Amino acid sequence: MAQYIEPIGKLINQFTKLPGVGTKTAQRYAYKIINMTEEEAKEFAESVISAKKNVRYCKVCGNFTDKDVCDICSLRDGSVICVVKEPKDVLAMEKAHEFKGVYHVLHGTINPMEGITPNDIRIKELLARIREGAVKEVIMATNPDVEGEATAMYISTLVKPLGIKVTRLAHGIPVGSELEYADEVTLSRAILDRKEM
Ligand SMILES: [Zn+2]
Repeated sequence: MAQYIEPIGKLINQFTKLPGVGTKTAQRYAYKIINMTEEEAKEFAESVISAKKNVRYCKVCGNFTDKDVCDICSLRDGSVICVVKEPKDVLAMEKAHEFKGVYHVLHGTINPMEGITPNDIRIKELLARIREGAVKEVIMATNPDVEGEATAMYISTLVKPLGIKVTRLAHGIPVGSELEYADEVTLSRAILDRKEM
């Protein structure tokens, strides 16, 4: 950062912490901010702080919310739970407009290579929700990669003995890819054509 004066160098450095942002893009972002009015820059900075302060995890599903319980959990059919890896997968599923139930965000998938065990993701919380009695079907919508498949299998062996139907998104989402990159048509077909595990 030697070529930048310190305040700009610092700003560029912050932007490079974001995913997919290299030095060049970070530099463009930093210059854009320098060119904002003071009011605009303030609004930008305040929205970063406000998002950090007000966004938390829904205590039921684990998705992002600004309330204790998110709108999806409060308003929708709780008899079908769609299990996903991350909050961004909820967004992908919602864009497909096919699913009308609720979600459960695991915040990870089982990955022995990286030391992520079933205890490190929100499986206990899922089982607790199921034990409350209203759930009829669990749709495993983890990514179609090795960890996603292993996690789906693992969870199905715990949930099926409870007398709950467990389904898996149909193939069509390219193997090894992530839900968030599937187009809406593919994803809605994968939901409709889901197979019982
Ligand atoms: Zn929720």
